[in-house]
Amino acid sequence: MNMAVMTRPAVLILLGPPGAGKGTQARMLEEKFGYVQLSTGDLLREAVAAGTPAGLAAKAVMEAGQLVSDEIVINILRDRLAEPDCAKGVILDGFPRTTVQAEALDDLLAENNQKINAAISLEVDDAAMVERISGRYTCGGCGEGYHDSFKQPAEAGKCDKCGGTEMKRRADDNAETVASRLEAYHAQTAPLIAYYGGKGVLRTTDAMGGINDIAQDMAAIVTKATS
Ligand SMILES: [Zn+2]
Repeated sequence: MNMAVMTRPAVLILLGPPGAGKGTQARMLEEKFGYVQLSTGDLLREAVAAGTPAGLAAKAVMEAGQLVSDEIVINILRDRLAEPDCAKGVILDGFPRTTVQAEALDDLLAENNQKINAAISLEVDDAAMVERISGRYTCGGCGEGYHDSFKQPAEAGKCDKCGGTEMKRRADDNAETVASRLEAYHAQTAPLIAYYGGKGVLRTTDAMGGINDIAQDMAAIVTKATS
């Protein structure tokens, strides 16, 4: 008998601020390990569309303009984890957000004799992140991406590709907004970092390097956490 069949599905949690490359890394883990990334938004949408009891409960709450309770999210997650495509493992993105949710998730996993293999925190240097994100701009003509520090066009203000001179910056990419976004992230995530640190499953990776270096590091963490 193949031992892999007997292994319980892996459960990973990804923690990282916007711009840290969480989505990219999750996709790489999906490809390498055959896991499924589960984001709270997708879970809710799918359950509502499928009309499951938990989905209908979520729909009613959302239509009333209220927040979907932890209990409903957990019920939706319970249904989703039982689907065959989750047999190898799942990567949770956007849940849990609080320690109360983390405890509820532990209880849910315990029902199936499962546990969290690793909560992987993508660590960033805030100042470097502000520079990275706030320096971005794109050509309004062709969409080519540029950066104040890392990729200037040959002629200032003129697109290398199409010669366009209308450069665009996203309003929410300015330094102040990025800095406050990071601050909010750290404030929200600190309790979770402590929670998973206390459980001995917290792993960290330096998310400021190249995409492939980070992916290699993540793969090593996951291999170790699931063996
Ligand atoms: Zn252009």
